[in-house]
Amino acid sequence: MSDIIQLLPDSVANQIAAGEVIQRPASVVKEMVENALDAGAGEVTIHIKDAGKTLIQITDNGCGMSPTDARMAFERHATSKISSANDLFCIRTMGFRGEALASVAAIADVELRTKRVEDEVGTLIHIVGSEVKTQEPVACANGTTISVKNLFYNVPARRKFLKANTTELKHIISEIQRVALPNPEIRFALFHNNSSLYDLAKSNFRRRIVDIFGKSINQSLVPVEEKTSLVTISGYVGQPKFARKTMAEQFFFVNKRYMRHPWFHKAVMQAYEKLLPSDAFPSYFLFLEINPAAIDINVHPTKTEIKFEDDRAIWQVIFAAVRESLGKHNVVPSIDFDQSGNIDIPVRSKEPGEIQYPEIKVNPDYNPFETEKTPSFKLPKPAKPGKSNLNRWEDLYQGTQLILKPEDLPFSSVEPSPATSSEGLPGKKILQLKQKYILSPVKSGLMVIDQKRAHERILFERFMEVLQSESVASQQQLFPQTLELDAGDAELLKNILDDLLALGFDIREFGKNTFIINGTPGVLDVSSPEIIVEKLLEEYKNSPVNAKAKVKEQVAISLAKASALNYGTELKQEEIDHLIDNLFACTTPNYSPEGKKVLTIIPLEEIEKSFNK
Ligand code: ADP
Ligand code: MG
Repeated sequence: MSDIIQLLPDSVANQIAAGEVIQRPASVVKEMVENALDAGAGEVTIHIKDAGKTLIQITDNGCGMSPTDARMAFERHATSKISSANDLFCIRTMGFRGEALASVAAIADVELRTKRVEDEVGTLIHIVGSEVKTQEPVACANGTTISVKNLFYNVPARRKFLKANTTELKHIISEIQRVALPNPEIRFALFHNNSSLYDLAKSNFRRRIVDIFGKSINQSLVPVEEKTSLVTISGYVGQPKFARKTMAEQFFFVNKRYMRHPWFHKAVMQAYEKLLPSDAFPSYFLFLEINPAAIDINVHPTKTEIKFEDDRAIWQVIFAAVRESLGKHNVVPSIDFDQSGNIDIPVRSKEPGEIQYPEIKVNPDYNPFETEKTPSFKLPKPAKPGKSNLNRWEDLYQGTQLILKPEDLPFSSVEPSPATSSEGLPGKKILQLKQKYILSPVKSGLMVIDQKRAHERILFERFMEVLQSESVASQQQLFPQTLELDAGDAELLKNILDDLLALGFDIREFGKNTFIINGTPGVLDVSSPEIIVEKLLEEYKNSPVNAKAKVKEQVAISLAKASALNYGTELKQEEIDHLIDNLFACTTPNYSPEGKKVLTIIPLEEIEKSFNK
């Protein structure tokens, strides 16, 4: 019998390799975007058609390729990123296996256009199923565009097992998140069937997180910062009280590469121990910087599993860093970076039992009327040195620590911190006046907040977020309510019905001037939906004609006004805290959606003056 072993032709070997690297459209997106990053791109644009089944096109403004390199790039194990096995131990690029392009070209119709700055013309290569169809000079911009069409056209089994478009698109979006989060200095644009899904401007980590996951996450983010000789950890974790019942956003990155690491995940979860109910998940975005020689990325073709030389020590560092951040920041009010830098944030009372209250030191010997005597305990830092009156005033209250500057606090390094906070006795700080105003001491005096307008602002921003996002959460009513209106109101309701649907209302016309309310917006806690809708129509009718305001916005304003808590509502301490937290997480906390003042500060000086000081 003759010998039977033979070498597989390249095209077959490539197809087999492709099975490992390219499992679905999202893998193509990942590989091609990583190539763009390795090429030093500052901007990456991704166009997807039919969840990537028809087209994946990625354009970058990176270094481009020479005509020879462009052809070489499609060979198996062809890479510019490493040249010897030693290089495997100091990998700083996303790619290095030289498999992606060869794999993609084996199972799709691929067109590459690329040009270096120094070249007059670019190169166009068309490859289908590993076979080069054309290679010719082409006029194109600097950088690279790669179009992948009809993925898996020659691997029917794979193609058949692709999931519904929504699922495949979800995978693509999560791949984009994984590369966009650790690279905020790069602009990413993602289009699906020509509509824009992401347009992520160049920014910083925090901003990038917010751009991807929405403004509401901002108030929950607590910075984590830890530098050791082994590893540097930075990023953000979510405050426990914002933890979600469903899987939250949880990301680890090592040297800007996304990784899955169930064991390190446990370190984070352990740091949250006792701060969370067992069925809640906190968000985290943690970036590990580590010497590339101390990790092995080459465990798996997709490189999301990474081995660490010192995983035990790193576990400890992660645990300690997260724990420390939570301790430091748990009670500090959240601050929105969109705020103008001059606003004071009111005190929040603490959640009992979570963290030790600072000790209250009272000096029994201190007599504030003895001006010459220096106090025997130390003032943290006089607010305004030189103004002895003021100092004395603060001395008087030092005992109860009513007003402190952030740097004087035991938990004080909120970042970014344009504002200040105070700390003190639990549950005693924020008062409600006439069931109408909320009073709170702040650094510069006494803040007075109009409770209804504050709530209108909060609800309005939530509604606007709902209107802008694609997913609408609606809460189904157990017993659908019918609503009978007069013809005018019915007409009005019909006019704004689409916007109400977008907000999460489920309202249907049911005969003449009658409607059925089946559901209400998930963000609202509504017991009598028909009353809310009536009030909403009333508000909408009476809203001043503002040609500039869009109907949507006007509907959101009216709904906010209709559903905001009223004057005369007694608020519990937690409700006050909640209101304040949410208000200061708004982009424009100072004004109601109609532009009315939400808060005012009575300056300390004025209070002093009224006492003739
Ligand atoms: P790897 O990224 O592992 O090196 P790939 O198959 O993904 O392997 O790419 C092969 C080579 O093609 C890369 O090493 C790089 O030199 C070149 N290349 C691929 N994509 C780009 C791009 N967008 N811009 C410039 N060069 C690229
Ligand atoms: Mg690559």
